[in-house]
Amino acid sequence: MLNRNFHDAMNGYFDHNATTPLSASAREAWLAAQSGHWQNPSGLYREAGATRQRLEEAREAFAEILGCEARRIVFNSGATEGCNAVMARAAREAAADAPVFISEIEHPAVRESARKEFGRARVGELPVDSCGVVDLDLAQRMIAESTPALVSVMAANNETGVLQPWRALAEICREHGARFHCDAAQWIGKMPADGFEHCDWVSFSAHKFGGPKGIGVLVVPDDACDPLALLVGGAQESGHRGGTENFPAVAAMLAALQARGGEIDAAGRDAFETGLAESIPGTRIIGADAQRLPNTSMALMPAHGNLKWLTRLSERGFAVSTGSACSAGHGNPSHVMAAMGLSPDEMGRVLRFSGGPETTPGDWEGLASALLEIHVALQDRRRSATKLDLSNL
Ligand code: PLP
Repeated sequence: MLNRNFHDAMNGYFDHNATTPLSASAREAWLAAQSGHWQNPSGLYREAGATRQRLEEAREAFAEILGCEARRIVFNSGATEGCNAVMARAAREAAADAPVFISEIEHPAVRESARKEFGRARVGELPVDSCGVVDLDLAQRMIAESTPALVSVMAANNETGVLQPWRALAEICREHGARFHCDAAQWIGKMPADGFEHCDWVSFSAHKFGGPKGIGVLVVPDDACDPLALLVGGAQESGHRGGTENFPAVAAMLAALQARGGEIDAAGRDAFETGLAESIPGTRIIGADAQRLPNTSMALMPAHGNLKWLTRLSERGFAVSTGSACSAGHGNPSHVMAAMGLSPDEMGRVLRFSGGPETTPGDWEGLASALLEIHVALQDRRRSATKLDLSNL
């Protein structure tokens, strides 16, 4: 058995879509900001002014990355807060009977906040095809027919990694006078950020790309002059969100994103998938025919429940997931898999592997070897159990 010490080496960590370790750049930026610029940015003395200036420079830097005006950038606690804020504002502005459209595969941060703010009856779901991609033609028809108050579609799915036609949807919404929100939690830091300036709302979390937990960005519409005021208190973040700004976390988030640079190379993941299909016949990669994030692989294993695989992988120093971090551990069947037509039995055999920028092709090979080792061991156990049964006849 491969006896790897997970705590000593991060190369068995294949759950980056759930969260990532703090990157070295982020840690350095956080320490520098926390020791040099810890003052309250609202203070009127020189040091506080310097912190304020750096905070605004960070806002400018995010605006440049996202191609929008700095006044549209609001720092908050992350994607869940952002999604809740978008739904609350959309519901407040919507006509009494106007629906909100979300895709069938949205994260609970979007799904649950839409249901809370609009009520289940007003939440329409845009269908996905068997690859897990939102059906653009159907979406266009639904948007044209109903003129929803808001359309919310993620940039990339957290479970499958399948990319969504969010740029096209933003355009369709513009044509039909509907607001568009993009949950970019899985996209930012993994894919180029161009196009987000055309979305009314964009939300994401730093901890998905090497930044700290509890900090994120919400891009607000350019014409939202009326402050969101979701957290009332001080007039921070232009009145959108009260509370002392967390400049060290903002600095660390920016450093993490800048350190990400280009796209993650998909070569290791691709070779892993090819090898897995050969070594464990009957394995199917979910969403393989669609464009996907380069770090994500969702495999439908030919036999045995996913928890059997997960615990044996964990013993060997590999951290993987049975789906999204929020539904895994709660035993809930995945609404994403259901929308893609998987049966309950198939959903119980799904494993998600998500690497990071530091994951090497060798790490992916190590994961494939461990899976094969477990496959052989589980087959042997099944064979001996059958023999035992027969000998009892
Ligand atoms: N949206 C997507 C697509 C996600 O994957 C996640 C987290 O997994 C979230 C939203 C919520 O992010 P957070 O838990 O950082 O608020």
